Amino acid sequence: MKKVILKRKIAQRIFNGHPWIFGNEVEAVNIDTTKIADLTTIAPGEIVDVYYHDNKFCGRGFINPKSQILVRVLTRKKEEINEQFFYNRIAQCWKYRQQIGYTENCRLVFGEADEMPALIIDKFNDYFVIQTLAYGMEVWKPAIVKALQQIFSPKGIYERNDVPVRELEGLPQVKGFLSEPFDTQITINENGLKFLVDVENGQKTGYFLDQQDNRRAIQHIVKGADVLGAFTYTGTFEIHAAHYGAKSVLGIDISANAVEQANKNAALNGLEKIVHFEAMNAFDVLKNWAKEGKQYDVVMLDPPAFTKSRETIQKAITGYKEINLRGMKLVKDGGFLVTSSCTNLVPPDLFLHTIELAAKDARKKIKQVVFNAQAADHPIVWGMENTNYLKFLIIQVCDR
Ligand code: SAH
Repeated sequence: MKKVILKRKIAQRIFNGHPWIFGNEVEAVNIDTTKIADLTTIAPGEIVDVYYHDNKFCGRGFINPKSQILVRVLTRKKEEINEQFFYNRIAQCWKYRQQIGYTENCRLVFGEADEMPALIIDKFNDYFVIQTLAYGMEVWKPAIVKALQQIFSPKGIYERNDVPVRELEGLPQVKGFLSEPFDTQITINENGLKFLVDVENGQKTGYFLDQQDNRRAIQHIVKGADVLGAFTYTGTFEIHAAHYGAKSVLGIDISANAVEQANKNAALNGLEKIVHFEAMNAFDVLKNWAKEGKQYDVVMLDPPAFTKSRETIQKAITGYKEINLRGMKLVKDGGFLVTSSCTNLVPPDLFLHTIELAAKDARKKIKQVVFNAQAADHPIVWGMENTNYLKFLIIQVCDR
């Protein structure tokens, strides 16, 4: 097995257990004691051993010379990486979800946070959606599928590898069945409601499980309320609002597909008289309606990630400030703003600070009601900052 020797000066991150090793942290890749490998000759996905500069064992993982992340460490032990390894890891992930009470629908594998770099598996009752986002994980896809078959005897497995990050790894974008074909429009239960999940054409894996607990957090504030939701996707928060006793709910999303699915979801729950959805640009809606002086008891915002790169964080912050300022203006005196951010480069304290600045500019007094992260089936690993990515905030908004 090839040996990757780290430079003397590497980030503390690697000692602390973070699995990513960048090309500029590597001194050399040795074929044996005498030969140094030419990186261009190394097959992507090959399993390698990683050693610190002083020749102490660091871990074992997969290499990809095409990727900026040269090695992703799979284990800190000298254990064999084979089918059994992947079976054990998935079984361990499942055991954890059972321990914490996430069994019917859950993120079964959350990549790095589950020591499975670049692997995402969502479980929607008897169906599984997987993403293998690095070359080395792609190589083990058959082993992963076999483990799922053995542990769950699922009704279906689908791959949603139609994501651009795969190209950074030299992998094509693909989607399709990894089991016998099945009807890709599946129905899940969440908090006593039913939702259609389009695993073939929906966004990401088809459904945002990370907000599953936060959707319950709006239960009391929406009673008898007129509610506006923006960035609704398939309408989960808005349908929860109607179910919890809102008087009227309007949901806005830019995607016509999402809006169509959201309206179907409303009907599926018999709530179509209370909640409906329209395809509009939420940035325009928030801006224009705030100017027009429209007012709601509750406004909910759940936009997509605003940036994936450090260079544009400031722009993302400006975006958060703007939509939240407008959102606050749309809230009646004493009403509530429900606001989220899934940008992992914006840490929780920075998000809260941005909301504070928005409140100042909007001339509002705010009171924190709830501040949460994502559901616990997406573990937050201490020392791995980007696993703490979702910010979910409810504030009461009062005039000054
Ligand atoms: N709240 C949803 C998830 C929202 S994901 C849930 O819990 O399931 C973010 C959504 O924002 C996506 O559906 C996307 O289509 C939508 N979106 C992106 N840009 C938008 C825009 N300019 N106006 C309205 N919606 C937008």
